[in-house]
Amino acid sequence: MTRAWVEIDLGALCRNGAALVARAGVPMLPMVKADGYGLGGLRSALALDALNPWGFGVASVTEGDELRRGGITRPIIVFTPILQTEIDALRRADLTPTLGDPAVIESWARTGRAWHLHVDTGMSRAGMLWHLVAEHASLFERAAPEGVFTHFHSAQRDDASRDVQEQRFAAAVAALPSRPAIVHAENGPAIERRAPSTCTVFRPGVFLYGVAGFEGGAIRPEPVASVRARIVELRTIADGETVSYDATWRATGPRRIATVPVGYADGYCRALSNRGVALLHGKRISVAGVVTMDMTMFDVTECEASLGDVVTLLGRDGDDEITVGDLSERGGVSPYEFLTGLRLRLPRRYRDDAAEAAP
Ligand SMILES: *Cc1c(COP(=O)(O)O)cnc(C)c1O
Repeated sequence: MTRAWVEIDLGALCRNGAALVARAGVPMLPMVKADGYGLGGLRSALALDALNPWGFGVASVTEGDELRRGGITRPIIVFTPILQTEIDALRRADLTPTLGDPAVIESWARTGRAWHLHVDTGMSRAGMLWHLVAEHASLFERAAPEGVFTHFHSAQRDDASRDVQEQRFAAAVAALPSRPAIVHAENGPAIERRAPSTCTVFRPGVFLYGVAGFEGGAIRPEPVASVRARIVELRTIADGETVSYDATWRATGPRRIATVPVGYADGYCRALSNRGVALLHGKRISVAGVVTMDMTMFDVTECEASLGDVVTLLGRDGDDEITVGDLSERGGVSPYEFLTGLRLRLPRRYRDDAAEAAP
């Protein structure tokens, strides 16, 4: 019997993708990097494939290779800079690099394969600076990119930075000897804020996995991930007794304490100590004391609780729901970090009604 697990709703993943595509009006290039934001890179890609995405985005050659071996045949774009020494591995797995360094572009061009030009318009992380594109025009004549793209640093914010980045990007694209077939810039939050897309494809990530980029957007994602665990110990402690390391939680009156086999080594952040909430039979319960490496204790005094009962640490139970947003805020981490931090010690269980969700 599984004691603790992550449930992943691939149908919801696909419905989130379909909602974004409808809003953007162009095909998507779903980001399935970091093992699909922790929820399964290959499983997510295979499910989203039903929506006819233009291709898929990953962070590394290893991640791209996993998709190829798993049967993905669409373009797979690697969104971190590659080293010269990785060129062979990319070719073997038929991956498309994103390049900004003129020497690497020269080397890759000799393979005769597609690549995308990464234009840095203000993120200062990777890519060719927008104002340097013009001076490399002869390079781009010899080695024309299939695609050109940039990345917004604050798409979830409603500030002027996006306009500045868009202008820089437009100038860089105009400086190329010819306009590439594929032009992309928007991530998920950028499409939540402004649609339709002004590009040929867009690159959603976290929204697909059930997390809105900001509050009050035009569309809302359905939750995709749930974390559940069974109660493996139950005890009643007396008034004044304490729970967990450092004795930071003290019982006021007799209290019923349930232990679940999930801890910070599973990605249930230690910062949720005395702050996390969960659901038991549809009722809210609170973390009692410090989250330990392998176990977390909850005060279940106000609930029915028996050994083996399922506690919902993340997700819906009855009429109530613990969202990634709630929990990551309580834990003081970003929702991206919370999702990608769910460790593989928690087995993944997939609900696969993805076929039904395809248009
Ligand atoms: C991760 C990533 C995205 C997706 O961003 P979200 O905020 O998750 O929608 C898009 N583009 C690039 C280059 C990325 O690295």
